[in-house]
Amino acid sequence: MNTAIERARAIITGYRGPKIRIMEVCGTHTHEIFRLGIRSLLPENVELISGPGCPVCVTPVSYIDEAIFLAEERHATICTFGDLVRVPGTEKTLADARSRGARIQVVYTPLDAVTYAEEHPREEVVFLSVGFETTTPSACLALKRAEAQDIANFSLLTANKTMPAAYEAMASHTDAYLYPGHVCAITGTSLPESLTKQGISGAVAGFTASELLTALAVILEKSRSGEPFFVNAYPRVVRPAGNPAARALVETYMEPCDATWRGLGTLKASGLKIRPAFAPRDARVRFSLPSMSGRENPACHCGAILQGLERPVDCPLYGRACTPDHPIGACMVSREGACSAYYLYGGLGRNFA
Ligand code: SF4
Repeated sequence: MNTAIERARAIITGYRGPKIRIMEVCGTHTHEIFRLGIRSLLPENVELISGPGCPVCVTPVSYIDEAIFLAEERHATICTFGDLVRVPGTEKTLADARSRGARIQVVYTPLDAVTYAEEHPREEVVFLSVGFETTTPSACLALKRAEAQDIANFSLLTANKTMPAAYEAMASHTDAYLYPGHVCAITGTSLPESLTKQGISGAVAGFTASELLTALAVILEKSRSGEPFFVNAYPRVVRPAGNPAARALVETYMEPCDATWRGLGTLKASGLKIRPAFAPRDARVRFSLPSMSGRENPACHCGAILQGLERPVDCPLYGRACTPDHPIGACMVSREGACSAYYLYGGLGRNFA
C-alpha cells in the first residue's frame, strides 16, 4: 500500500472545512485528475475549476485568422502542432484552408519545422509558436538553429504567453491554485511565493496520482489556517531557481509584450514576441501582417470556462452540437482543453464534482 497516497486520500475525503474552490491552471492536470478518478473522491465542499492553462484554448481567434491569412494570402507553409489545425477562426479552420489548397504541415516539435524549412528552401515556412514557459524554450531553440544554419526561410508567428499576469487576473475566481509543475520547473518558485503577499495561495503539483493527491491534500490542510500559503508539492522536479538556462535562451530571442487571451482579454506584459534584433524571424514583420481582431462564435462559452466562471456542462452546446469529433470551440479541440476532458472522462452528466 502506498501510505502517502492513502494519507492524502484520507485528508481529501475527510475534509469538512469551509467550501473551497481550487483552480487547476494546467490542462494536463485537468485531464489527469479526471483520468485518475480524483474528482470522485472530493467532498461537496471542494470544487475543482479549470483555468486558463491550455495554450491552444487561450489562443484567440485572431491568431488563427492570422495563420490562415499567411497561408492563403502570403502563400506561406504553416507548420503547427495538430490541435491548432482544428481550432475555428472567424470563418474557418486551418484544416478548411488546407482542404482548399493551403500548405499546412503538422509537426511534432519546432525543430521539425526548421528541418522542413531547410529541406524546402523555395517555401516560406512559418511555425505557429503557442505555449507557456514550458514550451517557449523549444521555439527559441528552433530560432537558434535557424540562425546558426542560416536557414533564411523560417519564421515564427508568436502567441507565447507567460503565467504571472494570468495568476493575478484569476485570483478572485479561486481560493487556491494547483500550480502547473512543468511551468514552475522553468520559472522556479519565487513567483508563487511572492503571490502569497497578495493573498494568493496554492501548491505546485506533479502529474502522478500520488503527486496530485498530495498537492490537493496540502491545499486543504493549509487552507484551514485562513492565511495565504505556498507549498512546492513537486520538489523532485521543481527547484526554487527553476531552469535558468531555459529562461536565458528565451531572453535571447524574445521580449515581453501585451497579449490577448481568449476569455481574459488583453493582459499587460503577459506575452512574448521576437526581439527586434531578430525581426526577419517574426512572421508579423516579415509578411507585413495586417492587424486582425477576430470574431468568437457567440454560442461558445470557452471564454467563461477559461476563467473558471462556468463548467463545460453549463454550455448548451456541450456534448450536443459540440463534441471532440465536431468541436465548435478551442476547449473541445485541444487534448488539454476542459471541454474535451469533461467529455472524454465524464460523458454527458457524470463525474462533475
Ligand atoms: S462545449 Fe464547445 S461550444 Fe461549448 S464552451 Fe466548450 S468548446 Fe465552446
